[in-house]
Amino acid sequence: MRSKIIIANWKLNGNWSFNEEFASALSKGLKEIDLKDRQIVICPPNVYLQQMNGLLLEKSIFLGGQDLSDELSGAFTGETSGAMLKDFGCRYVLVGHSERRERHFETLDVIVKKAVNAISAGITPVVCVGETSEQRQNGMMKEVLSEQIQSLVTGMGDQIDAVVLAYEPVWAIGTGETATLEQAQEAHQWLRSEIEKVNPAIAQKLPIIYGGSVKAGNAAELLQVADIDGLLVGGASLVPHEFLSICLAGL
Ligand code: PEP
Repeated sequence: MRSKIIIANWKLNGNWSFNEEFASALSKGLKEIDLKDRQIVICPPNVYLQQMNGLLLEKSIFLGGQDLSDELSGAFTGETSGAMLKDFGCRYVLVGHSERRERHFETLDVIVKKAVNAISAGITPVVCVGETSEQRQNGMMKEVLSEQIQSLVTGMGDQIDAVVLAYEPVWAIGTGETATLEQAQEAHQWLRSEIEKVNPAIAQKLPIIYGGSVKAGNAAELLQVADIDGLLVGGASLVPHEFLSICLAGL
C-alpha cells in the first residue's frame, strides 16, 4: 500500500511569529500520534526555511520548497537552486504549480528541467498537473492530463519513479470548489493509467496526491479514495488547527 503525504503550501504567507506559533501547534498536535507512515510536509516561503527547519522537530514533519530554478547556478537573479533548498533541509519541492504556470509562464519543458534538477539535488519534486475550468467544460480534461504526463515521461524517462504527482484542477485551487470524489478518482486513475502504459511497476507505486480547496471537513473522505495518496493544501494550511485536523484525517 502507498503511504499518504500531506503537504502545506503556504504560498506568499507567513511571518516570523506566525511560523513559531504554527510549528509549536503542529508539533504539539502530532506528538505521540501514530501517523502510520504518513508524511507531513510544510512549504513556507524560502526565506523562512531555516527558521522552520529549527522549529519542526517531529520526525514525521518535513520541509519543502515552493519552487526551484531550472538552472543549477550562475547569473540568474532571484532564483534558488535545488542544491540550495537541500542545504536548508528540504526533502520536497513543488514544481509547476498552476500559479507559476499562469503568472510566470512556466512551460512543460521548464517543469521537466525543474523536476530533473530537484532529483539531482536529492529532493523529491511534487509535480503539479491539472486542467482549467474551460478545458474541463470543453471535455478536454483527459487530453490535458495526458499531454502533461507525456511531457514528464518523455523528458524524465524512468526518473519519473522519484516524483510525487499532484493532481490540482486549476478550477478548484483557492475557489472553495473541491473536486467531487468521483471527479478526483477519475482524474487520478487516468493519470496512473497513462503512466502504466509506459511503466506498470512505476505506475503502481507512484504517489498521486490531490489539491484544490481541501479542508478539515473533506480531507478524510478524499483520503479514502482509491487512487488518492495524499493532499496538497493551500488556504487551509495557514490555520493551525485546521491543518492539524487534515494531517490526522482518517487515521
Ligand atoms: C494550492 O495552492 O496548491 C491549493 C490547493 O490551494 P487551496 O487549498 O487553497 O485550494
